[in-house]
This record gives sequence, C-alpha cells and structure tokens, in this order.
Amino acid sequence: MESIKRLYKIGRGPSSSHTMGPDRAASLFRAEYPQADGYRVVLYGSLSQTGKGHKTDEAVIRALAPAPVEVVFDKGGTEGLPHENTMDFFAFQGSREIGRSRIMSVGGGEIVVEGKPQYAPEHIYREKSFAEIAEYCYAKGIRISDYVEENEDEDLWDYLMEVWVTMKSCIGEGLTAAGILDGGLNVERKARVLFNQRHIDESDTTRENRLICAYAFAASEQNAGGGIVVTAPTCGACAVVPSVLKYMQEKKGFSDRQILRALATAGIIGTLVKTNASISGAECGCQAEIGTACSMAAAALAELFEMGIDQIEYAAEVSMEHMLGLTCDPICGLVQIPCIERNSVAAMRAINAFSLANFLSNTRKISFDTVVETMYRTGKDMSDRYRETSRGGLAEIYR
Ligand code: SF4
Repeated sequence: MESIKRLYKIGRGPSSSHTMGPDRAASLFRAEYPQADGYRVVLYGSLSQTGKGHKTDEAVIRALAPAPVEVVFDKGGTEGLPHENTMDFFAFQGSREIGRSRIMSVGGGEIVVEGKPQYAPEHIYREKSFAEIAEYCYAKGIRISDYVEENEDEDLWDYLMEVWVTMKSCIGEGLTAAGILDGGLNVERKARVLFNQRHIDESDTTRENRLICAYAFAASEQNAGGGIVVTAPTCGACAVVPSVLKYMQEKKGFSDRQILRALATAGIIGTLVKTNASISGAECGCQAEIGTACSMAAAALAELFEMGIDQIEYAAEVSMEHMLGLTCDPICGLVQIPCIERNSVAAMRAINAFSLANFLSNTRKISFDTVVETMYRTGKDMSDRYRETSRGGLAEIYR
C-alpha cells in the first residue's frame, strides 16, 4: 500500500477526481510538452457527464495556460475505456500534433498515466488487508497509529499537522461564509445558521447533532464553493472526518497529538479501501466516497478513545456496511445536492458506529476486508447512471 499522505491531499474543491486529478494531469502534460502552443483535452465517461458542474474544464484550462485549450466533452459511453474518468491530452505546434497522453483520474486526486509506470506511487506498506495489519499489530503489541509511524517517513506528523490545521481552517472559513453557492441550484450556505443555533435550549443529543452538522456543512460548503480542503478520502466527502474530530477535540479536550494519531488510523482505513476497492464515485458510487469517509471517521474516533484493534475494525466495518449501495447522483453535476447534507449525515453515523463498536465488537460477523470487497463488487454492479454521471436518481428526477 502507498503512503497515507497520498490519501490526504490539500487542494481546491469541488472534486478530487474531477478537478484535482485533471489539474495534476494537465500540469504533468504541460511539463512534458512545454513547447506546445495549443492543447486539446478530450474528457470521457463521468468526466464528460459531470465535468461542467465539477469545473473540470476550468481546471485543465488553468493548468495549461496561457496556451489556448480546446476542451471536448465526449458523451459516448465508457465501453473500451480503461477507467470511468479517462482523459486524452493532445499537444500542438500550429496544426501539427507533437504529443498525446491518456490519463485516468482514479479518485481522491490520484492519476494513472497510461504506459508510464514511473508515475505510479511507491508502495511503502507490506500488508494489504486489515487482517494482515491487525495480525502484525497484535504480534508486536502496538496500535495501528504506531504501525503507521513505523512505515511512513519521519515527516509524517508534520504533514498530518498541516492536514489538521487545513481541516480546521476550512471549517472556520465555512462557518463565517454566507450566501448562495454558484452553479444555478440556488443552494444557500447553512453552516453559519446551524452554528448560531447551537445554544438553543434542547437536549444534549440535539445540540451535539447541530454542532457536528454545522462543522460538516461548513467544510462541505467550502468545497462546493471551490475553497481549500483536504481529501478525506475525496473532496466530495471531505467534511466527515474533520467535523467529528473537531467536535470531539472541543468536547473532550484531546490534544492535537492525539488527533494526529486518529488521522493516522483513519488514513490506513481509507488507504485500504483505495488499494482493495475504490474511493471514486465514478467507479463505485457514493458508497466509495462517503462510505469510506464514514469508516475513516469512525475508526479515527475509536483510535482517539484508545479502543482496541477489534473495536476499530468494527467501527470502520459497520460504517461501510450500512452505506452499501449508496449511489452518486449529484444534481446538475454540482457537488451540492446530495453531497453537502450527506457529509453531515455520515458524520452522525460515524459517531453511532463508534458507539456501537464500544460494546458490540465481540459479536460481529463481518470483517472490514469483507465489507470493502462487497462495496467494490456492489459498485461494479451498479448502472453507470448512479456513478457520478448525473443521469439517474435525484439528478434525473429533480426539476
Ligand atoms: S453524491 Fe457522493 S460521490 Fe457523488 S459527488 Fe456527491 S459526495 Fe461525491
């Protein structure tokens, strides 16, 4: 498995696979053909169907500037393509083509360049499943966050601190922002309203719900507005992990050091899904994005409260199990409806899953590895109408 630092990417929303990935791909291509005086980019599959709403065209034009760029949205099917998010880049000098490259945006801002394995990430973890990691940790008597520390570079904690600071400032900025999000759906930012209602005299549970949801709305709305976010594991699902961690830090007084260890454990959960299944909505639906984010958040909470490896696994497993089949059907291709609310619902569910793991882990029947494989097979069985093409579900029925 690759470094968890590749899972947590800091960048601009609204979509890791549709803006961050294409932006990286275009920058790489431009570096390869700096002499070009014009480019053409052909977007296929989900990139073509939702690329407008997700601002893919703007991302590649910006990355290839100042040369003129023709962006083509190829509305043909995905048959024969190596991935649901495929792009072809062409470089020109005058009318003469001087180079081309096929690049896939495979989720979470990660790209694969066809025929160029040198761009593939280095694998620094020997273990490839939760079962293998658990066996290793039990044998050495260490926690999962210790296992991460053993395998990563020494700048791990500095990097995770940067991630945590960015997550908190994303929430902070989202809580002070107001107005209507761009895109034409007339979606009003609600984080500030929720946050300002946090002292209304209701039950503790309602207050907790409102505050966590305010944080989740804040980060999601920042993402939808093109703000700086951390993929956890993607931009669309960026708010689940930070909202529960910020809430718990404030409620229980956890140190930043403890939060970073929770992020390390969550990073392993996300990387396991990325390695053995997918974190791409275009490949496996929203279960791969929000489902993974929910598993990461629940595992992070279990780490924070120093629960055992079995309980961490249960928290991550139960979070994903009840997201199975979750479709990706963003209205107008915008990362707004259902994405923003969905982050807050998933944050509450992560707390629920973590609570269950506290007293039910010894009765569980399903392993985390099993649920990840199930999620992948379910995603592959889904019609592409429900995999980030905006051709089914809410995107089709909403008027
Ligand atoms: S519905 Fe889920 S997977 Fe699809 S864009 Fe929104 S958050 Fe991402």
